[in-house]
Amino acid sequence: MEPLDILAIGSHPDDVEMQCAGTLLKMKARGYRTGVLDVTRGEMGTRGTPEIRAREAEKAAEIMGLDVRQNLELPDGHVWCNEESRTRLVRVIRALKPKIILTHYPQDPHPDHAHTAQLVREAAHLAHLMKYDGENGQERHFVNAVAHYLFPRTVTPTFLVDITEFHEQKFDAIRAHASQFYNPSGNDPETMLSGSDFFERLRAVEQYFGHLINARFAEAFVVQEALNVDDPVALLTRPMNPYS
Ligand SMILES: [Zn+2]
Repeated sequence: MEPLDILAIGSHPDDVEMQCAGTLLKMKARGYRTGVLDVTRGEMGTRGTPEIRAREAEKAAEIMGLDVRQNLELPDGHVWCNEESRTRLVRVIRALKPKIILTHYPQDPHPDHAHTAQLVREAAHLAHLMKYDGENGQERHFVNAVAHYLFPRTVTPTFLVDITEFHEQKFDAIRAHASQFYNPSGNDPETMLSGSDFFERLRAVEQYFGHLINARFAEAFVVQEALNVDDPVALLTRPMNPYS
């Protein structure tokens, strides 16, 4: 398989859509190869079933124009960074060969999200070690960077991506997960995501991040390692908001 440029990894089948679908759409439009790996099938979700959620994820993948969407099939609500999960993820990383990975923030209060972040960081590192799971016969792979989305308000983003042009399409991808969101005629129990104002709140977060770079809508990421910048002039001559 041709290597991916960017792989987004989320614990549950709608995490990536909400946090970084705009960036994936923008990168696709630039001609990059994009992919999503869902760590679980979301079977612990209050609403929807694994089958419904798999169909919704497929529909969202089409809207995002992904080159690949896979599922690691770890148990929802029980994501742990252990030998089995690391080996499984190392195999996927070596198969898909992403240059960069987007995923959760290590201190996310949802344990699946936090453990996914840790799992991704460890697997991204181990994928480069020739002798780790060497008996599986895959080539080692070096992931250049892991960037984290959905972090606390006290953390300053490392970079922001203007997604104004892709904002509507991103929301189409989110709405593909119909079982999870507001449905006035449904009888499903309420969740944090299913309120009638949830999309408005999500949009407000994008607008806030957009404000930081003088854009209408943006997605934000944190990178824990120092960035190796080849051309600071090219990188830093985009508009920023001096009052942000
Ligand atoms: Zn989640």
